[in-house]
Formats: sequence, structure tokens, C-alpha cells
Amino acid sequence: MKISPWVHEFSGTHPFIIAGPCSAESEEQLLTLAFALKALGITTMRAGVWKPRTRPNTFEGMGAVAFDWITKAKAATGMRFATEVATAEHVELALRADIDILWLGARTTVNPFTVQEIADALKGVKKPVLVKNPINPEEGLWLGAIERIYKAGVERVGALHRGFSSYQKSRYRNQPYWQIPLSLKSQFPEMPLLADPSHIAGSRELIFEVSQKAMDLGYDGLMIETHPQPDRALSDAQQQITPETLKTLLEQLRISSHSSTDTFFINQLEILRHKIDSLDQELIDTLSARMNLVNLIGAYKRDNNVTVFQLERWQEIMQTRSDWGSRQKLSSEFITEIFKAIHDESIRLQTDVITKEPSPSNDAS
Ligand code: PEP
Ligand code: MN
Repeated sequence: MKISPWVHEFSGTHPFIIAGPCSAESEEQLLTLAFALKALGITTMRAGVWKPRTRPNTFEGMGAVAFDWITKAKAATGMRFATEVATAEHVELALRADIDILWLGARTTVNPFTVQEIADALKGVKKPVLVKNPINPEEGLWLGAIERIYKAGVERVGALHRGFSSYQKSRYRNQPYWQIPLSLKSQFPEMPLLADPSHIAGSRELIFEVSQKAMDLGYDGLMIETHPQPDRALSDAQQQITPETLKTLLEQLRISSHSSTDTFFINQLEILRHKIDSLDQELIDTLSARMNLVNLIGAYKRDNNVTVFQLERWQEIMQTRSDWGSRQKLSSEFITEIFKAIHDESIRLQTDVITKEPSPSNDAS
């Protein structure tokens, strides 16, 4: 894929902010918001027309009538609009209404049949298309959906990170698993990557910290659910914020650039990176020395018919290393992860040693 980095040119700002309601609810709601957001310098609004809901008989969006309200809000304010499309028919109606950005929702990205149907309906479309991550934490499905849209001739594609479902309880509605979008970005550095802090957070209080994290990681933009009266919203009420709160959030957001031309900064960075390089070399030398000892112990265990895995020793290692780490202000999760990996490798090496026959002694006597 050769994706053009279209976001900057399209938005004219960094970061690219898309704000607006979870769902388009009325003409008045969209008009009020469009004026309020325009006053903040926001150029693109989101508005869900059809809502994918977990249970039937709940609010499923206003449907195509919302396009009339969107058209009026566009004419009155010059605002651009983004909306979710989940079927080929949605695509057709959204294009007819001249929607500026289309996006595929998390429940669509999981299904390659639906994605392909939408991609076919999007053939040759010049408008930008954002692809939300699938609900489950699988990078391949996300990439596959982006590829299907791109192959349909849509050059302005982008990834929209909204977090992943998990059975585990967490403070977030959807777990961010930042490593997944970052891995996508490292394969396709030109591809715009936006975050949807509203659906990651699930509650108003957490939206700022998720937005800040996305900015610190170099994301290109944010899509933030905004409503004139969030508590009265027909969907996702607890995660929507007012335009006033959005204003404060954007003022407080620390935006760092991808690089700097300041020579002092560049030199300092170079010096620090050199230090990191040599520490990493030391780490590898230490690991290699450790594994040599592990091999030696493996041979002793084999010669004395002792099992490779020794529960007490394992428990002792985990406890002491975690204590040593906390004295150096290293979190116990971090130390545990590292020592689990070291232990797995040690077991693998010792199992290799044990399954090999002892080498014949050189001593002929
Ligand atoms: C939405 O953006 O309102 C939405 C339904 O999002 P998702 O597809 O991320 O659940
Ligand atoms: Mn929503």
C-alpha cells in the first residue's frame, strides 16, 4: 500500500480534531453544535446516522432523515461531516448526502464479507475513509480491512483506534492495547492514525488522559464525542462532553511534534541514545552470561536426574527480583514480565540440554 499522508492537508491543523455527537438526534442539536464547534476552530464533525446497538429495541439512530439535518448544518456553517457506514446501502446514501469522511465501525471491521461489500460500494471514491479497529485485539483483521478499502481505489484511508473488548475488568470501556495501533503504524508510517478516546474511555473523566497519551505517541488526530447536553444524549451519554469541556481539553493538551530542528536538542538526544545503545549491549552480554550458567546447571540436573522446573526456585526468583526491582523504582509488573521471559528461555535451554546425551568424557583412564 502506498498511502498518502492526507490528514494534514485535509485538516490544515495538527492534531486533526473530529468532534460531534455519538448520534445525530435532531436538526437543532446538529446546528447548535456546528456553531459551537466552529467557534473552537473545528472543521469536521462526526454524527452517527445508524447506530450498531448490542440489544434490539434500543435507540438505533435516526436513520437517513439525519442527512437532511447534516446538509442544513453544512450549508449554515461550512462544517464538514463524518459518519459511520455499515452496509453498501449506507455508503450509497452517505455519498448522495455528500458526507465528507466515511468510517467503518468496530463491529464491521471484524467481518471481511461486510468489509468487502462496503469496499465494492466505495470503488474509486475520492473521499477519506477511516477504519476503526475490530472489537477483538487482532491486528491482522484491522490491516485486512484497510487493505480491502485501499484496493477498491480509496487512497485516503486511515486507521481509527477505539480500543478492544476484553472480558477483564478495566477502568476503560475498551482496552487500548496501544502496541497494536503502534505496530500498524510502524508498518505503514504514512498511514494516518487517529484515536477515538471517547470509545476507549467510556466515561468523561478519562477522555483527557487517553487523548494525551495518543498525542504523546504521535497520533495524527482525535475523534471526540461531543453533545450540547451530554446527559440527555440518546446513546453513549456517559462518555460525551460539551463543547465547553472540549475547549478546555484541547487547551490543556500537550502536543509534541514528531521531530525537532533544534541542534542542541538533536545533540543531546544523540548522546542519550548512545548511552542507551551501550547499556543495551551490556544487557545482552549479561543475558548471554546468565544463559551460559543456565546451560551448565542443565547439565548438572541431567547428570543427577533432577527435573528442569523447580517450583521453589522459581518462586524465590520472582519474589527477590520483584523486591530488588522495587528498590530501584521498577514496577513489579515490568520485572515479572521480564523474568517470566528469562525463565521461559532458561527452561527451553535446559530441556534441550537434558534431552541430549552427556558428551563422552575425554578422560580415557
Ligand atoms: C461510534 O463511533 O459511535 C461507534 C458505534 O463506535 P464503535 O464502532 O467504535 O463501537
Ligand atoms: Mn458512540
